[in-house]
Amino acid sequence: MRIATFQHQGRRRVGLVAADGLSVAPLAFTAEEAARGALAVIDLAAAAQDLPPVAGPALPLDQVQLEAPIPRPRRNVWCVGRNYHAHARELRETVFKNSNADPQAWPIVFTKVPECVVAPGAAVRLPGAAVSSQIDYEAELAVVIGRGGRNISRAEAMEHVFGYTIVNDVTARDVQMRHQQWDLGKSFDTFCPMGPWIVSADELDGRDTRVRCWVNGTMRQDARTEDLIFDLPTLIETCSRGITLLPGDVIATGTPAGVGMGLNPPVWLQNGDVVRIEIDGIGVLENPIVGG
Ligand code: MG
Repeated sequence: MRIATFQHQGRRRVGLVAADGLSVAPLAFTAEEAARGALAVIDLAAAAQDLPPVAGPALPLDQVQLEAPIPRPRRNVWCVGRNYHAHARELRETVFKNSNADPQAWPIVFTKVPECVVAPGAAVRLPGAAVSSQIDYEAELAVVIGRGGRNISRAEAMEHVFGYTIVNDVTARDVQMRHQQWDLGKSFDTFCPMGPWIVSADELDGRDTRVRCWVNGTMRQDARTEDLIFDLPTLIETCSRGITLLPGDVIATGTPAGVGMGLNPPVWLQNGDVVRIEIDGIGVLENPIVGG
């Protein structure tokens, strides 16, 4: 199933997207439940409880306004740095130059604050040159955790996956490199477009799908997740070491080669740009870049 969170007639609703991708059937959640977006579905699934019935006729998708499937995650979004071999090479002299970590030993893990999540189609707002003029995109497959757990083994990790969505891990490169921790340069307001919906794990195996990204119609990134340095079970095992993962936790799995910083010379996002990410089996996440 594909779970979407959307606005319709002034209300936030949560629903199931039809197989043809043209309509969404709202579920009979209360307004309070629907306010949590897809977390309402994920929590029921994690507790092995049934979903509420569909409430009323399916709505054409072009007559609703999609929101991020989890508009406000219950805590920070987990993110993985340097997780495709070609991307590790393209930034080895810049972002990754002073990293002490052996890239083959342990993943780089950082987080984005929940408040920077925005909807498909929503503006990514440039912060102004006084804050940063080196804004970059990162197309990423994001894992959504279903059943929580601590010290999850690689062997059991995929049983904890509820599904998948797309995240654009928008980044201020100068701020990222200036600080030992990356969270500041990754968490600017509007810097986490998410969507268009969550595809459940019974419909997609995220371990081998295609991730592509275009800026203004020009393809910049094109890779398969089977090329990840650290695969999905390893990431789940890593993030749950000593920390209890919760239903609805999001793990953005890293970006392929082809970011703006990897170009020679680097090319930063500008007012009026449009970033379009497509992941096979999920759909399209497209956001305009606004301001400057
Ligand atoms: Mg990233």
